[in-house]
Amino acid sequence: MSPDSVELVPSDETPSQAAPPAVLTKIRECWGFDSLRPLQWQAIQAGLEHRDSLVVLPTGGGKSLCYQVPPLVAARMDVVVSPLIALMRDQVEGLLQNGYPAAALHSHLSPAEQEVVVRGVEAGEYRLLFVAPERLVQPEFLDFLAAQRVRSLAIDEAHCISQWGHDFRPEYRQLAMLRERFPEASVHAFTATATERVRRDIVERLALSEPEILVGQFDRPNLTYRVQPAVDVRRQTLEIVRRHAKEAVIVYCLSRKDTERTATFLRKHGVQAAAYHAGLEGAERSRIQDAFAAEELDVVCATVAFGMGIDRSDVRCVVHAAMPKSVEHYQQESGRAGRDGLEAECVLLYSAADGLRWERLIERSAHDSEDPATTVARGRSLLQGIRSYCTVARCRHQRLSEYFGQPLASDCGGCDVCLGEVQTLPDSTVVAQKILSCVYRMGERWGVQAVADVLRGATSEAVRQRHHDQLSTYGILADQPSGVLVQLIYQLVDLGHLARSSGEYPVLRLGETARAVLRGEQEVQLIQPVIKVRRAKRATESWEGVDPSLFEALRGLRRRLAAERKVPAYLIFNDSVLRTMAARQPESLESLHQISGVGEKKLADFGQAFLDVILAHSRDPLTVG
Ligand code: ADP
Ligand code: ZN
Repeated sequence: MSPDSVELVPSDETPSQAAPPAVLTKIRECWGFDSLRPLQWQAIQAGLEHRDSLVVLPTGGGKSLCYQVPPLVAARMDVVVSPLIALMRDQVEGLLQNGYPAAALHSHLSPAEQEVVVRGVEAGEYRLLFVAPERLVQPEFLDFLAAQRVRSLAIDEAHCISQWGHDFRPEYRQLAMLRERFPEASVHAFTATATERVRRDIVERLALSEPEILVGQFDRPNLTYRVQPAVDVRRQTLEIVRRHAKEAVIVYCLSRKDTERTATFLRKHGVQAAAYHAGLEGAERSRIQDAFAAEELDVVCATVAFGMGIDRSDVRCVVHAAMPKSVEHYQQESGRAGRDGLEAECVLLYSAADGLRWERLIERSAHDSEDPATTVARGRSLLQGIRSYCTVARCRHQRLSEYFGQPLASDCGGCDVCLGEVQTLPDSTVVAQKILSCVYRMGERWGVQAVADVLRGATSEAVRQRHHDQLSTYGILADQPSGVLVQLIYQLVDLGHLARSSGEYPVLRLGETARAVLRGEQEVQLIQPVIKVRRAKRATESWEGVDPSLFEALRGLRRRLAAERKVPAYLIFNDSVLRTMAARQPESLESLHQISGVGEKKLADFGQAFLDVILAHSRDPLTVG
């Protein structure tokens, strides 16, 4: 089949036969998993049988296992291309904890360390070798790999090869030569985010031949999505973070300054939080990442520079203090929550002002591109996708899933819309008329804040000097706080009833539909900002039978073991394993071994220590912790 006639429908709708016992035994021994997740066996089978594949599974879907199992079962060494050193390091660390021989080659290793890895490869010691794309395509390195008779290559984060993706990396383009360079080997692409177009691009660029296309369910049922109008971003963030006391939270901000201001604000209110952005020194960045991984730090306020290298699977909440620039970005960033499969919350604080800010950035950055018109069009269309996600009150799970081409049937019970939290403002149309007529009376030459000041009847010097306090609309919405008014004005901009000029001092004008609204010919629905939220049903289920004080005691032990070993805490056991322990309270090593996620090596290394805490707790629940 030629690449341009590739069929992109998933290869097989009916589940193929189950994994053979020998494979399951290996998985049980090494990882302690009792079963495989959807599509994992099909992906593993492609790896074992050397059929090219494209595996699209959402974050947390278990992609890594798909390329980790085949070389272990077949007793060979496969190569994994990975874009980030931190990501490789964590994976190798995790594999070694399970007694799985793996290594990474990257520029942060000293020549002596690299030499050790090279020797190990030659001696056939490893099952997986992780390399960065720029290293892989070096001629000497290609020769070295060819000499090792590498038969299978996995490309992680494969969407980086596509310009239509949201994370294009030019160095990935060179991977196109792998097919020719390793005609004997199979190539396996993995990604969490890929629209139809990106999928096609991956298949073509990597010249995959008759690939098995495995596309998993995009919906992440354990995540509760919320979109809230941004009224007072820092206060709202504080309120959200407080719902997750002692839990891991990532707050994404647009600018470096925002990360610092938010972190300072949270600390002032007793939340242990740190700022993280690309402008920090390398040492400081590593310190924060390490503290977060070691569970010594709960909340990180970050730009999107934070995350790709962070694999902490027990992130319980991801807050977007500003709107990201595409649904793909949102899916990926929010997807860092709840990778352990337990319930987690994703909140996006939406302000139309962020959209306008992105538009300016898109235009500015397009200047430097080869084809500015197309770049702007592409950027705008991605932006429109996320804007519509934020402004239309329909099930968030359905919206996200549909965006990636998978319609979802029923309401989810796990988003603000389905939980009934999104309410329309009472008398929306009247409120809209008041705002529009105020913009009109002010001569259509003032910005958002000035209009909000007049509406709420501010007594500032500026208002008096401009004689705005003489207007008939002065104070007609005095019952609304300023933040809410600003938010409502932006909603009217989104709906097209108001227009906002561009430039340094944007002013508000009446939009095309404003007159119809003012004359009462058109209804308006505005969304009421709500602050109070309910817990999703799943949130209570995964805590069922879990003894919280024992869970805390087990987390404490995990932290100590991780610190001694200088590894991230979640690599010892993830939250899901600890909660099962705290619910079942096993009394012997054998019954501890029954728990999913407790493999043989971890049982030998940590089993007794965890068992001791459980037994001590059952003797005297109050003294442990
Ligand atoms: P992805 O790379 O797709 O985001 P990971 O490979 O990091 O996902 O897996 C997410 C989590 O799920 C990890 O904690 C992993 O150990 C766990 N996991 C993967 N496969 C299984 C399985 N078959 N059973 C239980 N847990 C699994
Ligand atoms: Zn829903």
